[in-house]
Amino acid sequence: MQKNNSVEDTYRHKGLRRQLIDELRSKGIKDEKVLNAMNLLPRHFFLETAFEELAYSDKAFPIDNEQTISQPYTVAYMTSLLDVQKKQKILEIGTGSGYQAAVLGILGARVYTVERQEILYNKSKVLLKNLGFGVVKCFFGDGSNGLHDFEPYDRIIVTAGVAQSVPEELKKQLTIGGIMVVPIGNVARQKMYKIIRHDIDRFEEIQTDSFRFVPFLKGVNKIK
Ligand code: SAH
Repeated sequence: MQKNNSVEDTYRHKGLRRQLIDELRSKGIKDEKVLNAMNLLPRHFFLETAFEELAYSDKAFPIDNEQTISQPYTVAYMTSLLDVQKKQKILEIGTGSGYQAAVLGILGARVYTVERQEILYNKSKVLLKNLGFGVVKCFFGDGSNGLHDFEPYDRIIVTAGVAQSVPEELKKQLTIGGIMVVPIGNVARQKMYKIIRHDIDRFEEIQTDSFRFVPFLKGVNKIK
């Protein structure tokens, strides 16, 4: 995999990535399928060049418009909770850098990802296409209403912090037996929830650990 002529995935990057994967394992991530997918994906392709040296530390970094690429631990944690199976249809709200969407793509899912910041949508769409992620389809819009055109989804992952509760519209777009992973809580800290749709109107909500996300916002932010 190569980003463009100047940015490659060197042996050094690969070595640093293996160390990061070991670190995630030591922090309690057990899903080897997820760790393997993250080991295959050059995270430095998804960051500004200024952060290239740090791409394999377990930290979140700024991308455009005060948004962030999630910490690798968070990506591994959420992806493990999502229990992705090959060929599943997955909706992601919050494309950001495109990294999480690419991890889902490597796991064999068909990914529909929505971003409300036009600049991020534009960048990630081009990057994912150049990296060969035809299985990831990018959309510009407010993900509060999900993405009607391709519903229902086997899995839904929300990568921004929802203040109070999950938009009903999103829950309705899950298949029966489907799983949604979403951080819910106030600005400072959110709890990660795994929501399982057992039946048309029966949802089970499992609360897990605390995380910190940029806020889930309404409307879109267009390039001026
Ligand atoms: N999954 C991303 C993380 C990006 S941070 C990654 O791997 O890099 C969360 C993203 O959610 C931000 O880019 C933010 O603009 C976006 N976002 C917040 N509210 C949204 C909404 N209602 N609809 C779509 N995207 C939203």
